[in-house]
Amino acid sequence: MGEKFAAALARAATGNEITKQQIIDLLSALPGEEENKLFQLADQVRQKYLGNEVHLRGIIEFSNFCRNDCFYCGLRRSNKQIQRYRIPIEEIIETAKYAAELGYGTIVLQSGEDLHYSGQELAEIIRQVKKVGGFAITACVGERTWEDYTLMKEAGADRYLLKHETADPILFSQLRPETTLKERIKGIQWLKELGYQVGSGNIVGLPGQTIETLVEDILLLRDLDVEMAGIGPFIPHHQTPLGNNSPGDLSLTLKTLAVTRLVLPQTHLPATTAVGTLHPEGRKLALASGANVIMPNLSPVSYREKYQIYPDKAGSREKPTESHAKITSLIKEVGRSVSTGRGDSPKDKFKTC
Ligand code: SAM
Ligand code: SF4
Repeated sequence: MGEKFAAALARAATGNEITKQQIIDLLSALPGEEENKLFQLADQVRQKYLGNEVHLRGIIEFSNFCRNDCFYCGLRRSNKQIQRYRIPIEEIIETAKYAAELGYGTIVLQSGEDLHYSGQELAEIIRQVKKVGGFAITACVGERTWEDYTLMKEAGADRYLLKHETADPILFSQLRPETTLKERIKGIQWLKELGYQVGSGNIVGLPGQTIETLVEDILLLRDLDVEMAGIGPFIPHHQTPLGNNSPGDLSLTLKTLAVTRLVLPQTHLPATTAVGTLHPEGRKLALASGANVIMPNLSPVSYREKYQIYPDKAGSREKPTESHAKITSLIKEVGRSVSTGRGDSPKDKFKTC
């Protein structure tokens, strides 16, 4: 082990705050012993603070319309090659009932940034889904107004997922035209003020990103003190301007995840669908590197192929029953247990949820 790496790892193991330079030293872990030690420590920290359970968050992708034009995403408005859909409320409810039968503690209602739905309408969907079971509801519908966030919260949304995507403000606006990192962060802060359990996160391997950007990503997640952080690799989509770029690197994604676990010991970290798409063992490896959440896709089969944020998304050809069975057996295979509760943030302020 290199000296700088060993010192940074030893400091992280004490549970004390680590410096920017130490984050760089950890992210620079070399394959073999250094990476293994980093992943082992992240796994121990996950065990200590969050236990053995893996929380399932069932995703319903209810609309693939989007007003934005993100360079990395297949749902971007300029992609005329995808068939757009909105799932009727009755079908959303049916899916939620199915999730309740399977014992899901959380439903994630996800969509493109679709202004067809007013804040009131989003709130009504949340209210109806919430009536189906004792789930926690996570909304993941992009940037909305303070009023819309308020309406959704009042309707029963417990959590909101708004990834910051990249902490580099220039890269952010290059890859997400007409939008700014500043506005995105303002949205995340509003959500916190409104009492949501907030999820954010970043993409690893975006063209133009450096190790320093990843350090800034981790520091931003620390500053925002998020309750969840989705950290997944970039997967190129041929119908986007980044179609010819290389995907994010598996080992760098796992290292970013592991270092985030060391910096944010109480934060829920998913083994993302993107890491499962990048590599067949991706989710397993992520679970061994600090992750404690999986977000199985529960969308009805007829819509799955159309929600192509990137191609061949893990599980996109499966029936919801298959996705569920595969994921629960994967969790058991790695010696972990499937959580039966809502999986709220363990932070004191959310203890009564
Ligand atoms: N539209 C909402 C938003 O952007 O916040 C929510 C849905 S969006 C499809 C969910 C996430 O997909 C984004 O936060 C982004 O990180 C991820 N994503 C989109 N395209 C991706 C790609 N090509 N590779 C990896 N992740 C991608
Ligand atoms: Fe729309 Fe979200 Fe895709 Fe951007 S990442 S194009 S906001 S769905």
